[in-house]
Amino acid sequence: MKCGLEIHVQLDTDSKLFCDCPTNYQDAPPNKNICFVCLNQPGAKPYPPNKKALDGAIKIALMLACKINPDVTFFQRKHYDYPDLSSGYQKTSIPIGFEGDLNGVRIREVHVEEDPGQYKPDLGLVDFNRSGIPLIEIVTEPDMRSPEEARKFLRELIRVLEYSESARGEGTMRADVNISIEGGKRAEIKNVNSIKGAYKALQFEMVRQKNLLKRGIEIKQETRAFLESQMITVPMRLKEEADDYRYIPDPDLPPMLADEERVEYIREEMPEPAHIKTDRFVKQYGIKKDDAQVLTSELELADAFEEVVKEVDPEFAALWMRDELKRILSFNKITYKESEITSAQLVEFFKLLLDKKITTKAGQRIIENLPHNPKSPTLIAEDLGLIGVVEEDVVQQAVKQSIEENPEAVSDYYQGKKKALNFLMGQVMRITQGKADPGDIIKLLKGELDK
Ligand code: ZN
Ligand code: MN
Repeated sequence: MKCGLEIHVQLDTDSKLFCDCPTNYQDAPPNKNICFVCLNQPGAKPYPPNKKALDGAIKIALMLACKINPDVTFFQRKHYDYPDLSSGYQKTSIPIGFEGDLNGVRIREVHVEEDPGQYKPDLGLVDFNRSGIPLIEIVTEPDMRSPEEARKFLRELIRVLEYSESARGEGTMRADVNISIEGGKRAEIKNVNSIKGAYKALQFEMVRQKNLLKRGIEIKQETRAFLESQMITVPMRLKEEADDYRYIPDPDLPPMLADEERVEYIREEMPEPAHIKTDRFVKQYGIKKDDAQVLTSELELADAFEEVVKEVDPEFAALWMRDELKRILSFNKITYKESEITSAQLVEFFKLLLDKKITTKAGQRIIENLPHNPKSPTLIAEDLGLIGVVEEDVVQQAVKQSIEENPEAVSDYYQGKKKALNFLMGQVMRITQGKADPGDIIKLLKGELDK
């Protein structure tokens, strides 16, 4: 199969693209954030386009390795009739950037357009709060070969958008998914609102198209809708051509030039894109690609890692940050930024581990106490009574005690029940208050039991 994507995401601005109405459409009562302009009342003229939106689009285009259009950029009117579009046309720019790349998927173009309102056909109501919010549209070449590849691309793209701090992320995503398989024409699937949706729609469409071909039925070029609730696609209309939209330049809006100095300024200020950071982490710090990918999943986490490795072995830090730190973040359903954990805390914490002042097990408990806690890890460890690794003879004593106190578990062990060993280990942990090293305990336990 061949798959190309057209992805719309809202740009993060305070006001709309062609007027001063606020963009917090989700918090506002219906039809509150509206004016003559974004309602397209007769005689109302759009203001010049929102600068922040245009800068954001340039930044995202640059982060996707696009060339920026050096010539005049202008808005066109794309005509169609639907109740969510009060003007009868969508103001949509010609490409701002083109010929980009994201991990081998070519980006055909990036442009800016206005969001329509929200139409609820079942109620016959339209809410225009969303009308005129700036969108960025990213169009790829048909370079993806499977639903998995498309999913991977979208995850990576969302990461770029998050890094850019100029877009609103997956929650506002609306994608059109183009798919064709060999021997058939292209179908375009509309209404895909999430990465999972795109993946499911592609899986469904691949099977549907293959079955048609098998039965010798021609695959028409058509537009289909994705029904999120059922994870299927249904016919919508035969595919329209660009001609059907009757594009014309919008005479109400001035042509624009992307000033070269401004583009260079944005290029210098923009964050390093996540996928490039991932490769750099692998090269510069000698960590595994998987680890680097997890660490760069959030800009603040990646920055913290780079601070930490100034003082701590990168492989050691990567392992702990990927496994334990990520574990407590996802357990608490927070991002690294939201956790308020500082890189200084992490450095101190890792040093406690590396200097063997605490055990791995103790470390797992301490790190659970780091979110929203300005205390130093040493203090936390002291408060929890976790400082100090227990000497081997104390562990040996605890091993003996746990064996004496639990004859049942011991006989289970001799009958080959693996769980018994874990149980005994837990007992030793309890006796030593979690200060013994799990590896040592297992060794000593086995040594004692297998005597
Ligand atoms: Zn308005
Ligand atoms: Mn569009």
